[in-house]
Amino acid sequence: IQKELGQDGDDAADDLSQKIEKAGMPEDVKERALSELKRLEYQGPQSAEASVIRTYLEWLIELPWDKETEDNLDVNHVREVLDEDHYGLDDVKDRIVEYVAVRKLAGNKMRGAIINLNGPPGVGKTSIATSVARAIGREMVRLSLGGVRDEAEIRGHRRTYIGAIPGRIIRALRDAKTRNPVIVLDEIDKVGTDWRGDPSSALLEVLDPEQNHSFTDHYLEVPFDLSQVIFITTSNQLSTIPMPLLDRMESIQMLGYIEDEKVAIANKYLLRKQLEAHGIEEIEINFESEALSKLIRGYTREAGVRQLERNIGKIVRKLAVKIAGGEIGPFVVNESDIEEIMGPEKFTFGVAEDNDEVGVVTGLAVNAFGGDILPIEVSLSEGSGKITLTGSLGDVMRESAQAGLTYARANARLLDLEPGIFDKINVHIHVPDGATPKDGPSAGIGMAAAVISALTRRPVRKEVAMTGEITLRGKVLPIGGLKSKVIAAHRAGVSTVLIPKDNAKEIPELPERVREDLTLVPVSHLDEVLASALLEPAGQPIKLAEDGENRQDVIIPPVSIDGTNGIIHVSGD
Ligand code: ADP
Repeated sequence: IQKELGQDGDDAADDLSQKIEKAGMPEDVKERALSELKRLEYQGPQSAEASVIRTYLEWLIELPWDKETEDNLDVNHVREVLDEDHYGLDDVKDRIVEYVAVRKLAGNKMRGAIINLNGPPGVGKTSIATSVARAIGREMVRLSLGGVRDEAEIRGHRRTYIGAIPGRIIRALRDAKTRNPVIVLDEIDKVGTDWRGDPSSALLEVLDPEQNHSFTDHYLEVPFDLSQVIFITTSNQLSTIPMPLLDRMESIQMLGYIEDEKVAIANKYLLRKQLEAHGIEEIEINFESEALSKLIRGYTREAGVRQLERNIGKIVRKLAVKIAGGEIGPFVVNESDIEEIMGPEKFTFGVAEDNDEVGVVTGLAVNAFGGDILPIEVSLSEGSGKITLTGSLGDVMRESAQAGLTYARANARLLDLEPGIFDKINVHIHVPDGATPKDGPSAGIGMAAAVISALTRRPVRKEVAMTGEITLRGKVLPIGGLKSKVIAAHRAGVSTVLIPKDNAKEIPELPERVREDLTLVPVSHLDEVLASALLEPAGQPIKLAEDGENRQDVIIPPVSIDGTNGIIHVSGD
């Protein structure tokens, strides 16, 4: 009947069948495609089913079943490209060169771990992955897994769903147009799990070299070979990556840059990149070194260089206006230009605190954005032995605070404190900024030192930062993330960092400049912390009121510091 009506649609069917022949599908996939084509021919062209089948066939045809780019596995060339695009990062580059070498020798037999680049934002994770693709000569596709909660995002919806399409992996391959691209899976630490299924189990199948040669998307229903794909994943933290995934990865840490490295990156890479982005690469622009320092210290606070890159972009745009107006340079950017273009400084560089204060300690923390300083404040008031902890502290941090206070109580006499005072004062411990949730044991010695400083009226040296877990007996236990923390301390301009003795073995791994600039003091007991960090008392000791002083039970005398005559530096005031 269709023929009679002149609706035979043979042309379209012929067209599809030719495309199927040319798509280079494996035999079983081709059979499947041809049988779908047959089904299509039986449908009326207007039927809903026909359009579903046609879309399905188009997906099959578009996939790069046999299209490949040829790899350039010359290790020297790879190293050159990596060096050309990125400053430093030797560990990462070495590892990538090794990977390429093995690939060259083992060919398709290679069953390597997936490389995961872990570190705070802006340290170059994505951009080094892009360089890998460029170095080997492969296509690259990036997909962000942040917030993916549905297994179907990875593996597709079954065709019975209206509007079903393949999952992201198959879509990425279609975009790459080759079956051996580099696929960068960003933010693998932010994959969630809920009632819609577990995307991490689908990812496991994608990443596992034992299984991924026959990855089956729910929509396609036929296997696609992913074994030729190079997967590189990136993450901000390892702790939230599902264990089975983490197990298949080899994580390379990229912890962030110190100021010298940022200067070099800005001069050699970021400036050039921004000039290109603004179409003025032939113009010569130089930053005076003080100007660049100012730009880094006064306008960025980050482990990576993303904000710095944006700031340089802003300056380049100002110069672009001049160039468009006819000036040809060369331009030299000095400190006052920075101030003029960027406005008042956003961050004050230097130690966290302006004065040696009683009850204020600079702790160190790591979060998904790298290391940072963590001020801890303690304030005492006349009361009844209550403890208040604020600043969105987690359980572990609360317990550290309790442990610090118990230590002070137990060792009151050694610390020259009247034991009776503990029941008469209220202790308030606060960790700004209050809206950010914080947790972890490594603030232990900081909390204890802040409490003891407040109780003994001994100010804390402002140039000292500290990190370490504490036990009830005052022993200092090792912590994680030393490198990030020490880099943050260096960035904040402190001069001395107290670290647990058991972490001292990591000191040789720290950047040389950091080791030169900072005095790193390994400590094994709180006594050593107090000896290094606290100064002589800046006021009278806290004492119980004597009979006749009928005001209150305890007297907390004010402290004055550094000749600030009469200004009371009790923290929090
Ligand atoms: P991430 O993926 O780690 O968040 P990006 O890869 O997006 O960070 O990097 C941010 C920017 O900083 C990019 O423009 C990148 O080229 C640049 N960058 C980071 N590290 C370096 C480096 N070592 N050398 C040169 N450029 C760098």
